[in-house]
Amino acid sequence: MSTSVSVFDSYEVVIGLECHVQLLTQTKLFSPARNHFGDQPNMNVDVVDLGLPGVLPVVNKRVIDFAIRLGVSLGCSIREKSTFARKHYFYPDLPKGYQISQYDEPICDGGSLTIPTSAGDKVIGITRIHIEEDAGKSIHVEGGASSFLDFSRAGTPLLEIVTEPDFRSAQEAMEAVKALRAIVTYLEICDGNMQEGSLRADVNVSVRKRGEDKFGTRTETKNLNSIRFLGQAIEFEFRRQVLELESGKSIRQETRLWDSNKKESRSLRSKEEAHDYRYFPDPDLLPVVVTHAEVRESRANRPELPQEKLHRFCNDLALTPYDAAVLTSDKALADYFERALSTHHNAKGIANWVINDVLRITKSTGEDSEGGSGIESCVISPETIAELVRLIDDKVISGKIGKLVFEQLLVHPEQTPLEIVERNGWKIEGGDEAIGAAVSYVMQNFGPEVTKFRAGKDQVFGFLMGQVMKHAKGKVDPEKARDALKNALTQLPQ
Ligand code: ADP
Ligand code: MG
Repeated sequence: MSTSVSVFDSYEVVIGLECHVQLLTQTKLFSPARNHFGDQPNMNVDVVDLGLPGVLPVVNKRVIDFAIRLGVSLGCSIREKSTFARKHYFYPDLPKGYQISQYDEPICDGGSLTIPTSAGDKVIGITRIHIEEDAGKSIHVEGGASSFLDFSRAGTPLLEIVTEPDFRSAQEAMEAVKALRAIVTYLEICDGNMQEGSLRADVNVSVRKRGEDKFGTRTETKNLNSIRFLGQAIEFEFRRQVLELESGKSIRQETRLWDSNKKESRSLRSKEEAHDYRYFPDPDLLPVVVTHAEVRESRANRPELPQEKLHRFCNDLALTPYDAAVLTSDKALADYFERALSTHHNAKGIANWVINDVLRITKSTGEDSEGGSGIESCVISPETIAELVRLIDDKVISGKIGKLVFEQLLVHPEQTPLEIVERNGWKIEGGDEAIGAAVSYVMQNFGPEVTKFRAGKDQVFGFLMGQVMKHAKGKVDPEKARDALKNALTQLPQ
């Protein structure tokens, strides 16, 4: 094994991404058919999507707006005049025989995406963003004799974001998809649902000996609809290419398909060149013209981006970078946190509850375990969480009791925290007397621990404190109880 490890170590992986983002428009890119996932097959199909004779496409203005919004957010330059081109190929799910895309004049050029790495932030170059239509879907029933075609997806508007080959590890590429997913959901141009294919990536991978300048021959693995699969596909391809080269073979430029069950990719076809597609400007469509005023307006009106929100959470709310990163990783989660905060302004307190308690539940039960927080599945409202934190801050209940209230809320989300507290008699009512009783009980019954603490084992304090709160049934002010316990422990033993 040790020899094979060193073989891999002497190679570097080079990665470029092509990400497809399905846009949240009411209708399709060139037709009035509904743009909606999950309806009955072939429900949302217009004659334009099928390319019937004599029909003409009309571009959806919202798609242009969304492309500009993403472009200005990624620092791209927006082309004043961009054009649609036909990309020809045969496939049963492509009824027209060509896909309308953009070729040599895409709507956005240049730009960058910042990703976190273990060595700090890294800036990835964006080559271009172009608009294109999605194809339909072939449905192969396992064991069935025939296949089916669903054209509901045909003509769905997509933005394709092409990056420079700037990634040097699978982790970096995964971070980029995460970051992009956050950005498009913050911009409200895509729902970011990777399982449903709203966001998917093609990954270009090559390898080269460390220290070499020239890139190796790349392969492209298509249609990865999960960040985890993306990482696995890159690792697989890196190893496959290294082993090929080490055995004296060369890499064939090809398109590959990831099999998520087998955790391997297989060759689909040798890679086609641009000229194979017979690109030419679509004669049915006028160029897309974008004015300076439109770009300015889009820039002025664009919502806060994940990175900006993260910095604001750190600077204005004094959250730790870690907490801020977790809370801003997902738009719905950031919204949840901010709604709670607007009810009760204790950023650190609410952040702790959301990250430690709410996310623990939603991450395990939520459907979207990929980049998403699953917060949509949370039965407890942000206002309720805020109320719970307020009860603790106001010393109506202890934090320990707060956990019990939280468990109750999961089962009875329709009740308020205060109702639950009152019904169970959980209010802090024990004053100094109850604290004193609990402390002396602990001092008498946990002699060995008390001795240990006095001998310098500070860690025992947490345990003793837990015992005090337990004996007082959590119904005393923990801060006062802490002081009382400290006092008792530092007094000389009689
Ligand atoms: P195509 O349109 O044929 O897929 P492009 O030139 O547009 O080709 O490149 C597509 C993607 O391939 C880009 O994301 C780019 O960064 C990436 N890429 C190009 N060369 C390499 C390489 N040698 N290794 C890895 N990725 C590469
Ligand atoms: Mg490509």
